[in-house]
Parts: sequence; C-alpha cells; structure tokens
Amino acid sequence: MAAGDSQGALADAGAADLPGGLGHVFPLGSRLNEAGRLEIGGCDSLELAREFGTPAYFYAEDDMRARARATVAAFRERASGSEVVYASKAFPCTAALALFAEEGLLCDVASGGELHLALRGGYGAESLYMHGNNKTVAELRQALDAEVGCIVVDSFDEIARLADLTADGQRVLIRVAPGVEPDTHAKIATGQEDSKFGVPLAHAARAIEAAEGAGLMVLGMHAHIGSQVFDLEVYETLGEVLSGLGKFPVVSMGGGFAVAYTRDQRPPPPSAYAEAMLSAVPNDRQLLCEPGRSLVANACVTLYTVGTVKEIPGVRTYVAVDGGMSDNIRPMLYDAAYEAQIADRFGESTPCRIVGMHCESGDVLVPDAALADPRPGDVLAVPATGAYGHAMANNYNAVPRPPVVFCRAGDARLVVRRETYDDLTARDV
Ligand code: PLP
Repeated sequence: MAAGDSQGALADAGAADLPGGLGHVFPLGSRLNEAGRLEIGGCDSLELAREFGTPAYFYAEDDMRARARATVAAFRERASGSEVVYASKAFPCTAALALFAEEGLLCDVASGGELHLALRGGYGAESLYMHGNNKTVAELRQALDAEVGCIVVDSFDEIARLADLTADGQRVLIRVAPGVEPDTHAKIATGQEDSKFGVPLAHAARAIEAAEGAGLMVLGMHAHIGSQVFDLEVYETLGEVLSGLGKFPVVSMGGGFAVAYTRDQRPPPPSAYAEAMLSAVPNDRQLLCEPGRSLVANACVTLYTVGTVKEIPGVRTYVAVDGGMSDNIRPMLYDAAYEAQIADRFGESTPCRIVGMHCESGDVLVPDAALADPRPGDVLAVPATGAYGHAMANNYNAVPRPPVVFCRAGDARLVVRRETYDDLTARDV
C-alpha cells in the first residue's frame, strides 16, 4: 500500500473499535459505545432504530466524503488532469449527489431519471456524463436540452439518433466492448466481447467515423469492464486497448473498484487503481474513472428488527427480519455475501440463516450467519449496504421502501423519508 494512502488509513480507522476483524466492513468511525451498542457516524444504532424505524439505511456522511477525497487525491497526485466521475447508479439519492458535487466529483448518469436527480442534487449539466446502452430519443433530447457535458454513445443506432436530433458539436465518448474480462461474477462482468454494452472492438473505427460524420465531437473512448475488480492488471490491458483506438484527448475506464462486503475481503486502495489505470495511458491524455460502489457501499449500515427466531432441530435456525429482498436484492441477484451482527451484542455463538419477510424462499440476506443468541426485538446491523441497495429497492409484497438517514458527529438527518401506504396507491388512476 502506498504511504499515506487514504483508503488504507480509512480501513484502519474503521477497524479500530470493532471486534471480529469487521472494522473495515463498517463505516469509518464506527465503534461500540460504552453500552456495547454500535455507533454509526457517532449515533447510537438502537436510538436510530427507535427514531427512524426499521428497516432503514444509515449512512456515515464523513465516510462518503473521506472515500471521495481519497479517490480524487489518488488520481490527481499521479495525473493532475484526471477526473473522478461518481457512478450515481450505485446510490442515486439527491443528498448524496449534492455531497459528491460539493467534493468536486463529476457524475455519471445512466437514465433520464438519474439525469433529473443529478441536476436536482445540484450538479451543473456540464459535469454530467450520460450513459446507457439503450437511451430513448426522449432521454437523448433531455440530455441535449440540459446541455450535458458529454454523452457516452453505445451503438451505431444511437449515433444515428443523435444525428437525427442534429446534435452537432455535442461532445461524446464512444463506449466499446473491449474484450477485457475481469475475474468477477458473470452478472457484473461487462467488458467481454459478448456483451449488450458498447460497440464491438472490431467496429470501433467505423463508430468513430460515423460519429464524426454525424457532426459529433469525439473526445475519446470509454469502457466499463465490470465490478468488484480485485485483480488490477486488467486495467493496464484496458488502458492499452482504449489508447490504441486513436489519439483522442480522453480515456475513460469505468468503475469497478472493489469493496469489502465481508471481513475476508481486502480491496486494493484507490492508489492501486490509479496506478493500474494510468500505467498504460499516455500522459498527454485525460483519464476518467467512474467508481460507484467504492464511494458509498461501506458508508452504510442497514438496520432491521428481528421478528422471529425459528429453530428446526437438526436442520438450522432461521432468523427473520422486517426487510429483505425489497431493500437488498443483491444476495438474490448475485449471491452477494454480507456480514451481520446484533447491534448491541456483537458475537457469533449461534449459527443461523438470516431471512427476510417476503414470500419467496430465496429471500435470504445471509445464508450462513452466526449471531450472538438472536431474539425477537433485536436490532440487526448489516454493513456495506450503501451501493445498489436503495438504488434497487422495490415494493415487493407492497412493502414501503425504507428511509435514508445521514449520520454525522452524533447527529442524524433524514434525507429520504420512508414510503407510506399512500405512496403505494399514488400512481393509481
Ligand atoms: N460506469 C459504468 C458505465 C457502469 O455501468 C458502472 C456499473 O454498472 C459503473 C461505472 C460503476 O461500477 P461500480 O459501482 O462497480 O464502481
């Protein structure tokens, strides 16, 4: 790890007061207070649960800021012109967008809705990169009307659509499918040739010609090869591939920076990503990176309330909580693994399966957990839920989506309220 690397420092700071080697999975500054209760952003988790209800997403604001600063510093120290673009799909929340805008990050939006949120969050349109493998004409028009800084074109059809919209002079990046494959879950791998994303590498030259022919200003090439990328050599290969496609001013290498969902995961620090990404990019080019999850995942703890504990002799113990696949669908989508602890009784005496309250056997949050003698009424803390949790939340079983609370220096502020039953019928006509 590079000396002074701030993500390393972050991990160490987070680990200071939590037992079981869990510190780096929880938000920066988390600790057990004198009463043995988990604190998030200086706030007592049991009081948070009482005040805001459960399930709810609690983010340590300082954690997000620290990770944003560490990532920007890692890239700028090595290449002063490089930019960090927040992939807002990870946590598309106006308060978070406002925070990252304040920290000087640019922003990736992947739909008309995300574009709307980023503008509402205070982003200037010129700081926005409009992504999407199938942008509608309405979304392209919305992006052009807003005067977004750059559209990342994904296909020949999209180039034709932009030509029809007379988007003359619009700055674009061309997304390619580079054939560079990280070692990650198939459902979050996007760099392979056989992908719905991007122009096939073999057609990149023709796409550049078509875009320039349509009057678009091609700034450079883009690729996002996947997420939870631990082995960084792929970024060196990617840098070579993208830089080799033409002498354009910008090389945009996507996100994918890994995070620690579980205690055994030790993601490389941002400096390692910066080194790897910059290593194969000529220094007369501007490098863009687009991290999403690494800026927000570990900042958040979801708090649930345990409702039932069912022991099936000789089989297993089921611990059911008041949320599940409606607030975190990642275990079902990707077999994503999470840690869990009773918020005021860290420990691992009871092997159990933590399940949600939805009508699916697959509604499992942690298949093989170990908790300290779980009982109904306990508050359960699941860390590292800050990315693609709120973003993918849904109303299955007509469950209102949880609130989002930002915690800082002992103060908690509601930034997204809990949905109500009236919200569930608000679209009825
Ligand atoms: N950039 C693009 C184009 C993406 O599609 C994604 C994720 O899907 C990201 C960035 C962010 O990925 P991650 O959250 O893993 O950093």
